[in-house]
Amino acid sequence: SEQASWDPKILSLWEKCAVDENSDKENFQKTFVRHVTTTLARSAYNIDNFSAYQATAHTVRDRLIKRWNDTQQNHTEADPKRVYYLSLEFLLGRSLDNALLNLGLKENFGEGVKDLGFRMEDVLDEEVDAALGNGGLGRLAACYMDSLATLDYPAWGYGLRYTYGIFQQRLKDGYQVEFPDYWLNFDNPWELARLDVVVDIQFGGSVNEYTDEKGRTRYLWESNDVVKAVAYDVPIPGYGTKNCINIRLWNSKPKRQFDLGRFNEGQYEQAVQEQMQAENITAVLYPNDNHMVGKELRLRQQYFWVAASLHDIVRRFKKSEKPWSKFPDQVAIQLNDTHPTLAIVELQRILVDLEGVSWDDAWDIVTRTFAFTNHTILPEAMEKWPVPMVSYLLPRHMQIIFDINLIFKDFAKFFGSEKFINVTNGITPRRWLHQANPKLGDLITEVLGSKDWLKDLSLLKKLEPFADDKEFKKRWVAVKRSNKVRLAEYIKAHTGIIIDPNALFDIQVKRIHEYKRQFMNILSVIHRYNLLKKMSSKERSEVVRRAVIFGGKAAPGYYIAKLVIKLINSVADVVNKDESIEDALKVVFIPDYNVSVAEIIIPASDISQHISTAGTEASGTSNMKFVLNGGLILGTVDGANIEIHEEIGDDNIFMFGNLADQVEDLRHAHRYRDVPIDPALQEVINDIEAGHYGDPHIFSPLIHTITIGKDYYLLSDDFGSYLSAQNLVDEAYKDQEDWELIKALPKNTALTFLDPNNNNLGGEGMTF
Ligand code: PLP
Repeated sequence: SEQASWDPKILSLWEKCAVDENSDKENFQKTFVRHVTTTLARSAYNIDNFSAYQATAHTVRDRLIKRWNDTQQNHTEADPKRVYYLSLEFLLGRSLDNALLNLGLKENFGEGVKDLGFRMEDVLDEEVDAALGNGGLGRLAACYMDSLATLDYPAWGYGLRYTYGIFQQRLKDGYQVEFPDYWLNFDNPWELARLDVVVDIQFGGSVNEYTDEKGRTRYLWESNDVVKAVAYDVPIPGYGTKNCINIRLWNSKPKRQFDLGRFNEGQYEQAVQEQMQAENITAVLYPNDNHMVGKELRLRQQYFWVAASLHDIVRRFKKSEKPWSKFPDQVAIQLNDTHPTLAIVELQRILVDLEGVSWDDAWDIVTRTFAFTNHTILPEAMEKWPVPMVSYLLPRHMQIIFDINLIFKDFAKFFGSEKFINVTNGITPRRWLHQANPKLGDLITEVLGSKDWLKDLSLLKKLEPFADDKEFKKRWVAVKRSNKVRLAEYIKAHTGIIIDPNALFDIQVKRIHEYKRQFMNILSVIHRYNLLKKMSSKERSEVVRRAVIFGGKAAPGYYIAKLVIKLINSVADVVNKDESIEDALKVVFIPDYNVSVAEIIIPASDISQHISTAGTEASGTSNMKFVLNGGLILGTVDGANIEIHEEIGDDNIFMFGNLADQVEDLRHAHRYRDVPIDPALQEVINDIEAGHYGDPHIFSPLIHTITIGKDYYLLSDDFGSYLSAQNLVDEAYKDQEDWELIKALPKNTALTFLDPNNNNLGGEGMTF
């Protein structure tokens, strides 16, 4: 509508300047060179891989911006109900390859880049991951964005633009060392700074009661502690559609400019302090996965983010001039875990205090607008904030919380299944198959005769008749082999360890956590090593060779998890050097596991491990990614392993361990009785304590979690069945004919969310 009132001269210029969507090779090269000379200010004789990446990225960005503008303009005109996904984490990874594939530009642009003397793989490899998340929760948010865009939803994500994402992990003497993630130091073509979209956010202050013109008691929250939230937009293109949605990330900036008065008084440090405090809010992503640390700055982050986001959502709604009662018909807000739950209180505050809606009407609107996703029931992950801290930082919110306070159990009893639904997580097949495993993607497309499976994963069912097809199997095996070679090369380049692509690749990559039990995995590796050492050379030659591959970050303050990394590396040092076992076993810890590394690892697995203590992992998502790429699973009866089992059948998954309903009794037994440790496990513990893997004192606190710490995660109870399952894996792998028989491909790993009736954007267990 704004355009219509424009001068016709400007309109005609507008049309002339529109982005040329012609995606042929020549047009790409023309734009590429223009970006090299103007955007990057470099000469055509001075382009390295990084500038080639930047110029390609900017060429794609032009198109993304066009789609973003068209999509948003279209949504503004149509004014549909919008869905907002509030997530403190978006673990996006790289954008260029994904954008090229989703926009259908990969082939032509690839040729264009090649013609100019570059290899597309090298160009793509220059991109730094956007790692604004810890693990599963943040990656889920990123997968949801891809699917929302692809399925043509008018959706927006809201998050924070951290200056530092998740730390970089390096290894020193086998220990994890953390380095800051300077991801914004290299120019970020995937964001659009909206320096004009600014929201004032206040903290602290006081609440003043007054009587309004209608005689009602009203409350006004006032404070001088104000910071600015500045918007940065990240366009997310859908696959095979022009829909391009948005993630709006907020950056904190000082409200007041530099305090010149103080500066003139010689108080330079105090003069800049306020600036620095404001910028601190979005400086760093808290690096804890499934663990709550009650820092005031984290609470500030949470309020800053929800207040800015709600202001934006309410502003957009008000443009439509609809009555407040229509708000839930126009707006659905999904809360990714408890991190954004202050949004509920903030909307109530906006409606009652600022817009003058009655308390009951406001509460009705609020309860029909929000849905919440629960990700865990681990006690240490539950958010708890001290009342004095909340009262001091957010005095008005504290009052509202007291008014809406409800005991959870009663709520659940009262509403029952009406408000609680189970939604299993999902993953995007665009990134986790098409992009990460292009060879398998191409094979599937060729056999199915189209790329429709990328939007409807149930079509993979049509591959079933080919499971016995010799030619198809040969090609399938060749794809897996080339992915294993690619991973072996990556491992050699990054760790110096050489692994044989013919070995069974046994992979456990995920955040390091006691409940995920990487500790149990490495203990079983020691057990295997001991067996190998006892064998004759002939016996050893008949054993399945294994490369056991680990990856994952430990929270910097998580001492036990960091010791697990050290133990893995100490075991690797001993095993990999021991020539007597004739390369029958290799152990690798891949440093700095992130989304880009996952894209190399996941397509290369023969077996992946998802071995959390039953009842602790809400879903997991990497289990689905491995299966989608034709890997088998070694897992416990936990999280989405259970549904994956239902889909792929007994032949493709090795399950073991105690069940969730046995866990409480076992823990009780450990607490009150002297339960003997599993003998095989005891032997392994003895080896560590005897110093076979370096100074045993280093590992004492880790061993004590089993021996004197009551074995909370039940390693001893599950160890026997774990070893048996490992043996079954070996036996199955020996029969290569059978191993290669693809019995059933998962049909249900696509995203199946957004129930049209309740707009729930759920995931990980319970959503309400
Ligand atoms: N971290 C990264 C970098 C990932 O890519 C993923 C999933 O792909 C995860 C964590 C989550 O892994 P899991 O579901 O095994 O916990």
